[in-house]
Amino acid sequence: MPAHTTEPHTTPGGPASQAEFSFEVTTRLNETCSPDEAAVAQNGGKFQGRTGVITTPHGTIKTPAFIAVGTKATVKSVLPESMTELGAQALLSNAYHLYLQPGADILDAAGGLGSFMNWQGPTFTDSGGFQVMSLGSGFKKVINMDAAAASPQAGADDSVAVGKERLAHIDDDGVWFKSHLNGDMHRFTPEVSMQVQHKIGADIMFAFDELTTLLNSRGYQEMSLERTRLWALRCIEEHFRLTEERVGKPYQALFGVIQGAQYEDLRRKASHDLGDMNFDGYGIGGALEKENLGTIVRWCSEELPENKPRHLLGISEPDDIFTAIENGADTFDCVSPTRVARTSAFYTPDGRFNLSGAKYKRDFTPLSEECDCYTCQNYTRAYIHHLFKAKEMVSATLISIHNERFVVKMVDDARLAIEDGTFFEFKAETLRRYYPNR
Ligand SMILES: [Zn+2]
Repeated sequence: MPAHTTEPHTTPGGPASQAEFSFEVTTRLNETCSPDEAAVAQNGGKFQGRTGVITTPHGTIKTPAFIAVGTKATVKSVLPESMTELGAQALLSNAYHLYLQPGADILDAAGGLGSFMNWQGPTFTDSGGFQVMSLGSGFKKVINMDAAAASPQAGADDSVAVGKERLAHIDDDGVWFKSHLNGDMHRFTPEVSMQVQHKIGADIMFAFDELTTLLNSRGYQEMSLERTRLWALRCIEEHFRLTEERVGKPYQALFGVIQGAQYEDLRRKASHDLGDMNFDGYGIGGALEKENLGTIVRWCSEELPENKPRHLLGISEPDDIFTAIENGADTFDCVSPTRVARTSAFYTPDGRFNLSGAKYKRDFTPLSEECDCYTCQNYTRAYIHHLFKAKEMVSATLISIHNERFVVKMVDDARLAIEDGTFFEFKAETLRRYYPNR
């Protein structure tokens, strides 16, 4: 497994240079592979997928890449050494959670996120916008991207989940929100988000944006998109001010976030507007339904600058990963591998299973015969079944290592398949095995 040994390089005596971050496209899917007509028809246009290399001050990321989530500066129950060993290239943490606990000043004093958590590779932080508006606001149920609930309805712009108090108040300057930890009131603006993320010190940061839901009206989406555009300009200005001010720190790249819900014209406009700004890359965020995922990623990819990386924020399923890759997402993050591991669910090439079942009590085979991870090389289903039943914490650790490796390897294989021209065959075979009942 590759070790991330690249030393951060800073400009002696001066501010960091934007040139410390770069992205190079190495292969294009539509040049190496020939999808059949059905695939093109389903996609609705040309495939935007590619392979490439992102270079950060803490090392490189070969794309497409799965970015493992370490929300509070830890991948839940897994040591960073294990993440390196299983091939994870980069980790993504959460600016909102780290701002509230332990506080961005602590991470700054520690030398930044990677240094604080003993992870030598590249790191990402999201802007905190999602958590401010979901956790802080009590909107959790409304933010559920349920297709059945997606039809705009009167009053939906101001609706709050049943039984929830409205705990976030948004205006054109920023958001007031109540901490989900202790009820303290906090103010987030584009400038505050940049200051917090600079202190946290990740290699890749995201601009502060407003997250809308599918329940918002078309008029609200337009108003919100304009607010996010103005916030993007403020984020860039504050980002470069902080880059100048914080002499001696490695360059932190800033990605703009494309919103616009399910509307093609709004997604394309946002991509065009933010594409013209001096961002280092882009995040594709916000309200989208599973069946529209590929189409929305493609709209954005077609408008965004070809030479900058695109990150799809928060996906969960293997089929979503293939959809994201072929439509031009270079990186994507997902909490599922560790989240489902804590309920004893494990991935195999033949689908996802739950280890709590009695049939595993005497099953002395590994989680997957085809897996090369530490867990599968050393432990049996019977043992981990026992640990889970006995409520021993190591069950979550062992299953999380396996699940993270499963997704990392699937994305690595997809990258190799783009390079050698077998992407569509690889996708079809992988999904045929993983979803045998479709
Ligand atoms: Zn394994």
